[in-house]
Parts: sequence; structure tokens; C-alpha cells
Amino acid sequence: MRFVDEFREPELISKAAEEIRRLARTERRYRMMEVCGGHTHAIYRFGLKDILPENIELIHGPGCPVCVLPMGRIDDGLSIAQQSDVTFAAFGDMMRVPGTQGSPLEHKARGMDVRIVYSPSDALKLARLNPEKHVMFFAIGFETTAPSTALTMMRAKAEGIRNFSVFCNHVTIIPAIRAILDSPDMRLDAFIGPGHVSTVIGCRPYEWIAQNERKPIVVSGFEPLDMLQSIVMLLRQLSAGEAKVENQYKRVVPWEGNRAALRAMAEVFQLRPYFEWRGLGFISQSALRIKDKYAEWDAEQRFAVPGIRVTDPKAAQCGEVLKGVLKPHQCKLFGRECTPEHPIGALMVSSEGSCAAYHNYEHRKAAMVTLNSVA
Ligand code: SF4
Repeated sequence: MRFVDEFREPELISKAAEEIRRLARTERRYRMMEVCGGHTHAIYRFGLKDILPENIELIHGPGCPVCVLPMGRIDDGLSIAQQSDVTFAAFGDMMRVPGTQGSPLEHKARGMDVRIVYSPSDALKLARLNPEKHVMFFAIGFETTAPSTALTMMRAKAEGIRNFSVFCNHVTIIPAIRAILDSPDMRLDAFIGPGHVSTVIGCRPYEWIAQNERKPIVVSGFEPLDMLQSIVMLLRQLSAGEAKVENQYKRVVPWEGNRAALRAMAEVFQLRPYFEWRGLGFISQSALRIKDKYAEWDAEQRFAVPGIRVTDPKAAQCGEVLKGVLKPHQCKLFGRECTPEHPIGALMVSSEGSCAAYHNYEHRKAAMVTLNSVA
């Protein structure tokens, strides 16, 4: 398959790994953050960590939107659905995310009308087909998914569909990176830039990271060769004492972003003054709210939102893992109380969550090695 097989070619992967070993100076450590949850997943899935020299450390960033959503927002969304007899529609990866009174799936088992949808327009279709019901779409994601929510709301307005609304939890990536860089316990040398988000925002918004913070950043694809090439590009910059934005994922990411998608977002959304992120606290101008001209389709303006604030269970260390301060297996609950079957934190639910990725690939691999050595 074009664009996949050629980026999994063993010979090219060996060459890239060799180049990484040649460029990485043995007397120093390199701490590189992959911002995007999709990259975290790829690192574990393809075992990339195992072919990197020991002195290159990949730090998992806050780029999994399900993981960074505080539990209170899940409670708020479910509470709207409960109080107002509303159909709660959301993507599948939200379904097992725990709220204080259980996940959306558990609420469904108790009788709430909870539906899995594959897109916001599926939720709008539900509203069209069920005019006696109100369908609320629980919108989540970075700039990657925000345009499709915006376009769906524009369609709802144009068609005059009034039994549909959006509970907006869209967040923006740049303020989160800024918060990471401002964090006193974080020391990073470089960034592997998010591939999906950048298809919409392009590469320009990262320029301050290179110019002001003097950190190289390479926007990367998700195949093994993409990621290794990105690490080669970062090492070349670090060796030359440079800090610039580069685009490894040119086959998908336009430097200027997707103007039509950005226009749709600008039509429907504006920045919130601040928004709470799990693990990172309140970050100013880090999320989107719906503009007043779309108030009729904004669940937060149509319904009473309790504004629930919840702290994570005391022993859960999701915040530290999200900031890259701890590795998933260093959380006290990892693999014992918190597993993909019984998740305590959202990082163990989403396929892009670092705890789920670590559990599904690294943890199982370690268990196999132990079993084989016993046998
Ligand atoms: S193991 Fe569970 S509780 Fe611990 S950080 Fe991961 S998701 Fe959070």
C-alpha cells in the first residue's frame, strides 16, 4: 500500500536507525517530547524505543484529547443528558472514560440514551431522524476534529435543525506546549511535532518554539520511518546548534495549514479565556467555545451546566504522566488497580493514551519475556 509500506521498509528503517546512532553523541542525553498521542501509540506499537540508543529518551506529551479532559467535564456532559432527557452522542473512545458516577457506557446500562457516532454529522443525522428527541454531541479533540464540528453546526443552522446541540470540549495545542515549556520540572531538548493537528494549523504556529525557546521541532508522520527520520532531523539540528521548525510530513501537512478548515473554525468558535486540562491545570486561551451566533446549538447555553470540578483519585498519577514527568509504568496504580479492562484514568482508555499504549505493547511484551524465561 503506497504511503504505508514504503514507510515500513526494513532496510530504510535500519539505515535511519544507523544514522541516529551516528548522530547521537554518547556523552549527552537527548530528551525529545512527542506531543501527539498518535505518536506515543506508534512508538510502542512498532517498538521504536528498542531501536533507539539508550541516551535518547522519548517523553510522552499531552496530545491525547480524551486524556487531558478533566473528569468534571464528563460529569457535566452526562448530567445535561440525565437532567434534560437528552440523547448523549459521542465518539467510541469516550464511552469507557470514567466520570465520578461511571462512564457513558455505564450510564447507558442504567437507561440513559447514549449513542456511539463516528462523526458529528452522524449525530446531526440522529437528530434529523428523531425530531421528538434532543441530540447532544459531546465534541472533543484538538484542531484536528474541531473543523468537522464547526461544519456540522453550520449545516444544522442552515437546515434549521433545532433539536441538536454541541457540548464543546475542543482544545488547542499551542497553549498546552507553552504550559509544558513553562513547567519547572520539565527539561526538554526538542519536539516531535503533532502530525494530525498540523494538517489543519500548518507549521507556522510552532515558530515561536524555535525562535523564542531555542528548541527544534519537526512535524512528523506516524509510520516507523517517519518517526525515525524526524529524530534524525532533530539530531542534525541539535548537532549544528540550530533551532527551527521542519516538516517531515510534507505528504500530508501543508506549511500554511488547511485554510478552509481554519475558516470554518473561525466562523463557529472563539477562544475561551481559560480551560482546565487534566494534569496541567487551567491554561489561558487553550480551548474553544461556541460563538453567540450559534448559541441555539450550544449545549452550554441551552442547558444548565453544573460546572462540576473533580480531583482525580489520590493515588492516580495521570497528571505526572501527562506532563511527561513519570512514565506510565511508574504510576502506583499501573497494571494493578488501573488496567484497560478497569481503567481509573483516561490515559488507560483511549488508544492514544500513553498508559493504554504502554500496557498493550510494552507491559505484555515484558510479561511474555518473563513467561518464556520461566518455560
Ligand atoms: S495507570 Fe491509570 S491512574 Fe495511573 S496514570 Fe495511567 S491512567 Fe492514570
